[in-house]
Amino acid sequence: MAEGKPMFRKLALIGIGLIGSSIALGAKKKNLVAEIAIATRSKETLAKAKALGLGNRYFTDPAQAVDGADLVILCTPVGAFRGIGKAIQQYLGADTILTDVGSVKTHVQQALGPIMPSYVNFVPGHPVAGTEHSGPEAGFAELFEGRWCILTPLPTSKSQAVAKLAEFWKALGSNVEIMDAAHHDLVLAITSHVPHLIAYNIVGVADELEDVTKGEVIKYSASGFRDFTRIAASDPVMWRDVFLTNRDAVLEMLGRFTEDLTALQKMVRNGDGDGLEKLFTRTREIRRSIVEAGQDTSAADFGRRAKKP
Ligand code: NAP
Repeated sequence: MAEGKPMFRKLALIGIGLIGSSIALGAKKKNLVAEIAIATRSKETLAKAKALGLGNRYFTDPAQAVDGADLVILCTPVGAFRGIGKAIQQYLGADTILTDVGSVKTHVQQALGPIMPSYVNFVPGHPVAGTEHSGPEAGFAELFEGRWCILTPLPTSKSQAVAKLAEFWKALGSNVEIMDAAHHDLVLAITSHVPHLIAYNIVGVADELEDVTKGEVIKYSASGFRDFTRIAASDPVMWRDVFLTNRDAVLEMLGRFTEDLTALQKMVRNGDGDGLEKLFTRTREIRRSIVEAGQDTSAADFGRRAKKP
């Protein structure tokens, strides 16, 4: 989509880390927007975004960035959304589509829905794509290619706005799914949030055991631990906000996880080889189906060959 008229006159990105910068690069590459305004809270990050040429205009005040924008995307940690929403609400235009990339959706609807003027087209979203890297230098235009983007419109969201936003994500290379916010939060709790919590936990436990193991955790990390450390290196603030704002769904899934872990513990204790083998055969099939669905490759690098480090 390099030639032709851009889909939007002006895109305002509020927050310019991994996701914001990847949207900026993808939108430029595909000529989806005529102009990009970037706002971030620190002058340091703004200077980096400017040096990388991610936008056309740069601000530390989000209200200035959204002025005249027909697409506004919130790309900060979820915990900052309400404050940003309050700061920009009166500067959003009547035809503006307001969306976000937050990893939880019920909270975002509740935090932003009630404070947005009725003429703003608010359509929450979540690109299910990422890496463990943060900041404006971490972004790359291809991040969303072949990945899912889930939109969770409100009952009041206009269908034209939902369709236009879906087209934008498709143009960035994503497959788009429309989903209820509560369902999104439950699905992501098991596919993303609980796995991150487990990784944070196992790396934390191993770190505490370092006194006993005397550096051997790092030395022999390639035997499994290393793959958890990649997930556990994800941004602490972003993940803090995920667990603070998707508490119910995470606790529900953690409850099921704990029950199954207890069953597994019993199998180990009882020497139930058949039970263990049956489970491990089932889980190997799940890995195969993820590769078949194009959501990973079978290369033995566990995601280490990202397009950009
Ligand atoms: P990131 O690389 O850490 O960048 C965060 C950006 O938000 C920076 O511009 C930062 O500004 C700004 N920011 C941080 N705290 C803020 C606050 N309290 N008030 C205002 N601005 C603030 O983050 P990211 O990985 O792009 O994630 C952004 C969003 O995408 C999150 O909501 C996350 O849930 C979602 N998401 C992430 C992934 C992933 O894998 N990373 C995947 C899908 C969705 P300064 O640097 O100027 O402080």
